[in-house]
Amino acid sequence: MPIDIKQLSQAYQYLPDATGLVDDTGNILFINQAFAELIDADTRVTTQDSLAQVFLLRKAQSNDWQSLLNTAIDQSCTVEVVIANKSNHLVSCRLHLQSIVDEGRFVCFLARLSNKSINASLDENLTTLAYRDSLTGLANRYLFSQLFDHEISQSQRLNKRFAVLFLDLDKFKKVNDSMGHDAGDEVLCAVAERLQKSLRKSDLIARMGGDEFAIIMSNIKDSETVSKVSDKLIREIKKPVKSGANVMEVGCSIGISIYPDNALTAESLLQHADAAMYRAKHDGGNRYQFFSDALNQELNDIRVVEQELQQGLIDDQFVPYFQPVIDLRSNRVVGVECLARWKHPKRGVLAAVEFIDVAEKKGLIKDVFNQVLTQAFEQIDDWTLSLNERIPLSINISNKQFYQHNTFDLIDQLIAKYKVPSDAIRIEVTESTLQESETDLLEHLKRIKTSGFSITLDDFGTGYSSLRYLQQLPVDTLKIDRSFVRNLDNNPHDKIIVKAIIQLAETLGISVVAEGVETALQSEFLEQNKCFIMQGYFFSEPLSSNDFEAFIKSKPSLTKEPVHRL
Ligand code: C2E
Ligand code: MG
Ligand code: MG
Repeated sequence: MPIDIKQLSQAYQYLPDATGLVDDTGNILFINQAFAELIDADTRVTTQDSLAQVFLLRKAQSNDWQSLLNTAIDQSCTVEVVIANKSNHLVSCRLHLQSIVDEGRFVCFLARLSNKSINASLDENLTTLAYRDSLTGLANRYLFSQLFDHEISQSQRLNKRFAVLFLDLDKFKKVNDSMGHDAGDEVLCAVAERLQKSLRKSDLIARMGGDEFAIIMSNIKDSETVSKVSDKLIREIKKPVKSGANVMEVGCSIGISIYPDNALTAESLLQHADAAMYRAKHDGGNRYQFFSDALNQELNDIRVVEQELQQGLIDDQFVPYFQPVIDLRSNRVVGVECLARWKHPKRGVLAAVEFIDVAEKKGLIKDVFNQVLTQAFEQIDDWTLSLNERIPLSINISNKQFYQHNTFDLIDQLIAKYKVPSDAIRIEVTESTLQESETDLLEHLKRIKTSGFSITLDDFGTGYSSLRYLQQLPVDTLKIDRSFVRNLDNNPHDKIIVKAIIQLAETLGISVVAEGVETALQSEFLEQNKCFIMQGYFFSEPLSSNDFEAFIKSKPSLTKEPVHRL
């Protein structure tokens, strides 16, 4: 009579040695009490799991159980495995696999486990190298993903929920840049320690890389608990980290997804938590955000836009629009700002606000920029001939582009091709770009200046540039943000801010431009306060190249004499 698994199980049931039966794909068919105790006293593992879910193979690279099992069918083997027990402590063991064959037919593997590691001296390395983040001692990305799968199978079987928290530090780059990498490392260690202190022992905490951490809070009852814990983490991480004379401060943004409510796979749960984290960061940082259906919809929309952007690039749907910059003293066009527009096949002409962010996030901004700028230079070249004057061109550079060398290579190429004097190019960077990193920043700004371009600080007033900081930067022009100009008619507070910006520019000896001027009242207020250069719907919306040419021709007084420089 052939042997069956049940018979085998009964035979091994009370053996004092940790013994189990495993099928040829690695599914555990049976484990005896000793085995259960050895891998986890709390019997988290049952016969529904597979070897891969219970054990981590010794070397991070050799995690292919199937090929191991294929080999073990012909020749019994012993491998070093690691168990993460209930409190996420790693224990290394020796697993012996031997096939049981009955009448020439493979029945299953006999799996024997002993808690002696093959090479005890490697144990230290094991925890530090393969599965642990060497700086903080937390689990690393690899261990996290292994335990994540385990958590899913447990929660599924026991019908429990768990939360995935994706945590990213705010302003960490600033600490690293201004105080050095050692200081950055200290902050990361302090954060790791605070996370460990604030969470339960059974929660899994991992450093995923850089300043990113991930947490699994198992067996949660409701989202209220997760909110409370997140609040606590935010409070703890906000506390200053002291090191010698240095005091370092960071914050954190947390995105949360819940199993099984938001997704069933580790990949989706992490993606969702990551997306929610981005939203928290986008909303100002030092906050948490649960993944939600609304956020999901938003992500789907972004995915659609991304696909359409890619098609749009293939079909040359991106064009420059031109908004005149006027000097009220002479009533002349003293410049033109190039603004990207998307001739969307279904939605008409879309303004930059509707797609620039997605293009930047998805790494497509460079291609959009190339398409738009190449046409803008051609156009400006035409106008130089037909209007017999050169209108200085303002070019917007996004945060990421600013730090990429090829952004300026393209501008250099276009300048050479169309023989544009470099002082006819104005580079617009937003104030937030300046907050990025002080060392890189100065170098980049200097490079722009040596190329001969002038630099405009766009959306000025929305960031936090101090006077002292501005003084160090080679900036030529401040552009007052539209949000202040918009309320000039009725908001006394904004009037004060605008006056202050104009005075600041004067103190620094640089020009000032107001954008988004829509009414005569706004224009008059600015003029009274000695800001004479403006752009906005009051003068003209951004125009297609044909309309811009018509605009200039319809105002002959604007075109004839040489233009003012800003
Ligand atoms: P920005 O450089 O501050 O451009 C001004 C924005 O305000 C433009 O929106 C413009 O159409 C709009 N605007 C101009 N006058 C008025 C007005 O009087 N009232 C109102 N309500 N709005 C006005 P747009 O074109 O959607 O661009 C948004 C932002 O996208 C720009 O802000 C700029 O930062 C960025 N951007 C535009 N084109 C490009 C580009 O080719 N490359 C990059 N990197 N960024 C671009
Ligand atoms: Mg601009
Ligand atoms: Mg602006």
